[in-house]
Parts: sequence; C-alpha cells; structure tokens
Amino acid sequence: MRSLGPCMSTASGMAPSCIANGEKDAGGIIIGIESTAHTLSFGWVDGRGVPGKSHSSFVRPIKGGIHPREAADHHTENTAELLESLLKDDDFCLDSVIAIAFSQGPGLGPCLRIGASIARALSTRLEVPLLGVNHCVAHIEVGRERCRCDDPVLLYVSGGNTQIITRLDGRYRVLGETLDIGIGNMLDKFARAQDIPFPGGPRIEQLAAEYCQSEDKPTLQGLELPYAVQGMDLAFSGILNAAQHLIDKGASLPSVCWSLQEHAYAACVEVAERALAHSGKSELLLGGGVACNQRLREMCEVMAEERGATSHVPEKMFCIDNGSMIATLGRLHLLWGDATALDASGVRQDLRTDETEIVWN
Ligand code: AMP
Ligand code: MG
Repeated sequence: MRSLGPCMSTASGMAPSCIANGEKDAGGIIIGIESTAHTLSFGWVDGRGVPGKSHSSFVRPIKGGIHPREAADHHTENTAELLESLLKDDDFCLDSVIAIAFSQGPGLGPCLRIGASIARALSTRLEVPLLGVNHCVAHIEVGRERCRCDDPVLLYVSGGNTQIITRLDGRYRVLGETLDIGIGNMLDKFARAQDIPFPGGPRIEQLAAEYCQSEDKPTLQGLELPYAVQGMDLAFSGILNAAQHLIDKGASLPSVCWSLQEHAYAACVEVAERALAHSGKSELLLGGGVACNQRLREMCEVMAEERGATSHVPEKMFCIDNGSMIATLGRLHLLWGDATALDASGVRQDLRTDETEIVWN
C-alpha cells in the first residue's frame, strides 16, 4: 500500500475550518464511487479537493418506485461504460490516483454492494488505500467545501432522508429528522399517483410555479394540509395523503403542487430555524436532491436573513448524489490517516450520520 498522505494526526476536537482542509495537498487524485440508491456515479477530486467531473447514470423507473435489485442491476450494467468515460476524461489521470473512496452507507444493500465491490477491486488492483465513507456526511462536506462555510446547520433533504444536522463534540449530530418517509420520497409518491414519472420533485416545482404565476394572490384557503412539524422532527405521510385527498375532491393539480411545496418546505425551514437558534450557529447549508428546489432555497434565504444568519446551497450537481462528493469526504479521511481495511469494508445499510467520527477539520 502507498502511504496515507502527508498528515497523519487526528484533528478531533479542533475548531472546524474547511478552508484549512483546502490548503492541504493529499498528493494525488482520489476517486469517489456513489451507489447508495438510484445513482451510480464515478467522480474524483485532486489533492487539494478540487472536484473533477462526475460520470453518472440514474435509474429512472417508468412505473413504480425504485426496486433495490433492479437498481443494483442498473449499476452493474453501467459500470464499464461509466468507468471508461472516466478514463477518457481529459483532466483525469489514472497514474495519479492515490485512493478509492466509496459510499459505505446508508442506502439500499444491493446497490451499496455493487459500489463497494468496484471500490475493493480498484483499490486492490491499483494498490492504493480504500476509504469507506458515510453518504450523509459526504453531502455536508461537499457543501462546506463548495460554499466555504465552516460550521453550518445542514438541512439535508433527499429522496430517502430528511435530517437537520450539525457538528457537536466531534460528530455530526441529528437534531431532527423525518419520523416516516423522506421529503423527496413524499414528492415522488405524490407525483407517481398523478402519472408523473420519477423524479417527481422537479415537475411538482414547475407546476407550483405555474400556479403561482397564474394567480394574482395565491391563497392556501381550501388547500390546507396537515402540519409536518413534530417538535424537532418531521413527518410527511399525512401531508401526502391529504394532498391526494384534495386531488380526489377535484382541486387542480398545479394548486395542490403549490400547497404541497408551501407546507412541506415551511416545515423543514421551521425546524432548521430552531436548530440554528438552539445551537447558536449562523450558517445554514442545504444538501440533497430536494435542495435543487428554488422555492425551498428562497424560504431558507428569507429565514436566514431575518435572523442575521446566512443560507448556502452548492451547485445543483453537488446537491444530487454524485461521485465527487464521495471523493471529497474520502480525501478528508485520507488526509487524517483514516483508511478502511478490506475486512472492515462491508456495507452498512443503516449507517447513521452520528456514527462517523469527524477526524478532520
Ligand atoms: P437524492 O435522493 O438526494 O439523490 O435526491 C433525489 C430526490 O430529489 C428525488 O426525490 C427528487 O424528486 C428530488 N428533487 C430533485 N430535484 C428537485 C426539485 N427541483 N424540487 C424538489 N425535489 C427535487
Ligand atoms: Mg443523497
């Protein structure tokens, strides 16, 4: 095995600083492999953490949701082509690769196992360290890196996850989360019932915007949905059922899409605001596929401004699942000498955000 890079000390307990992370040079390219659910992606970062292009393929079921085995088959079928396109990437150089990072969890078991197998094979073949990383933590770290924020509260809104997270005592702690389904999953399920294909979030956003523009003063009267906030937690299945009920009673699809967004996003923003207040932090960071949503971004900006905080969101390609974000976190593990032994590289479907010790700045 090659050496683990220039910095081997542990940084637990130090004040966070993503800028300091960027000043360190890992000495070569780190490949990142993402395969937790619907996306298979190969990305990379250079020694200073600057991301290269991610080469990705997405499962897009024509009917129904994502079937874990079918998604895993998709990943298997697309591996060779994606790897080939990574190798053809003009900026990428295989000889400069110094480590292979992969999503170790959380996610769908069959999908995770494909990414982990590819990572083990590459790491063994290239004789470079293997780095198993926490997918949720990767969303935070790529956001910190891209937005240059140091110690944010993360509003992580994706298909399967909805969490409000912040760093306390060397771990990212979950301050609040969904008690049932992820917000993206709720949007996709509602969309599917209206014959809108996966992913439903972008089309719901478009219909909501059209409704908003077509109304002089849009009002929620007659379009009320249950409130999703439960203390610091959230729950979305009630909203989903009630939105379908409005459709069944004859409300127009665009009006319900608008109401759905207003209710669901307001609930997330409320819990995020409480997390900022309780933690005393002043940066809000958005991550996950639903963070692509313009209305959610606006709401977060308004809330942050009103309380003298700032709201940050990375470019869309870093909100959705991608290999570069896995490489971003892999690089931090590598810099702090935290590689994964082969016999500890088994996937963890249920890996929690706060199980991963933060050994980096
Ligand atoms: P992820 O699980 O992080 O890969 O994100 C996928 C989820 O993001 C799916 O549930 C999508 O419906 C959702 N999504 C993507 N773009 C948008 C958008 N513009 N508005 C709302 N949800 C979105
Ligand atoms: Mg994700």
